[in-house]
Amino acid sequence: MKKIAVLTSGGDAPGMNAAIRATVRYALYKGLDVYGVERGYAGLINGNVNRLNSRSVSDIIHRGGTILKTSRSPEFTEQEGRRAAYEVLSAYGITGLVVIGGDGSFRGARDLSHEYDIKVMGIPGTIDNDLNYTDYTLGFDTAVNTTLWAINSLRDTMGSHDRVSLLEVMGRGCGDIALYAGIAGGAEYVIIPEVPYDIDAVCRDIKSSQKRGKTSNMIILAEGAGNKDEIVAAIKEKTGISVKTTTLGHIQRGGSPTMFDRVLAARMAVKAVDLLCEESESRLIGIRDNQIIAEPIDSALACPKRFNEELYSVAHILSL
Ligand code: ADP
Repeated sequence: MKKIAVLTSGGDAPGMNAAIRATVRYALYKGLDVYGVERGYAGLINGNVNRLNSRSVSDIIHRGGTILKTSRSPEFTEQEGRRAAYEVLSAYGITGLVVIGGDGSFRGARDLSHEYDIKVMGIPGTIDNDLNYTDYTLGFDTAVNTTLWAINSLRDTMGSHDRVSLLEVMGRGCGDIALYAGIAGGAEYVIIPEVPYDIDAVCRDIKSSQKRGKTSNMIILAEGAGNKDEIVAAIKEKTGISVKTTTLGHIQRGGSPTMFDRVLAARMAVKAVDLLCEESESRLIGIRDNQIIAEPIDSALACPKRFNEELYSVAHILSL
């Protein structure tokens, strides 16, 4: 393999730039020519491909977002679109592709690698931590730390007013941002999609914690777990307590990546480039038990949903 390309696709996440940098510099070290594709699969179809050198990725390791930009490409979900993408790659003589993205991007990568003679390595970049084959995705740690910053600020003000606060966080169908930020931030309740919540139990707990001397309560709600307005209305109706709500939104997507995300980006990129040099079959890179792993795309995408029940119960026990 002599020529490879790198792109970012789908939702952006802190750590994507660190992964681009590591991919480019390690590929150059291995003697490869490396190209950057702008705006994900859409840019690939349109031929937005540029040769990169070591200086192209200077001064980006600490930046959130992605210098290559990202996009969603309906065309790439069609065979026609993937053929156009392949024709661009083959015009440049590129035979290996590093895709930094989430579940959807990896489904596209799988289709491309099945249909054409292109080896694709996927680096998981999403704040949601919703890819089951890997313990962590790039951006998750940073997003949790951003959420913690918000929790700390909310604690200051809610403690002064004896308030109940509800903070809605991202995560789509995955409750990990809420769960990890909830434990690290000492939240009283964590409501996540993996465990159906019982509003009566939440209300009983708020009441009983007040009896035990807790004057303020923090509820962390994962966006996929329920409707915050309904939860707040139900608490008001059943307890008479007004809950102050905050939705953190896209702030969680940005920010300078943490040490964990930067080191993870470097380790995963090295693995991806090594596998391309070995002409390995297409794989998704991940981390399990602190070891960098690489699974064939089909089996990685078919991994059953994982959920750390023990951690969830710890969150509850420590809030009592
Ligand atoms: P993410 O990678 O963050 O999950 P998306 O789900 O938006 O983001 O996917 C990014 C891109 O990947 C889509 O715009 C599309 O081009 C491609 N893609 C998504 N799902 C599929 C699929 N099932 N088959 C082929 N390509 C897909």
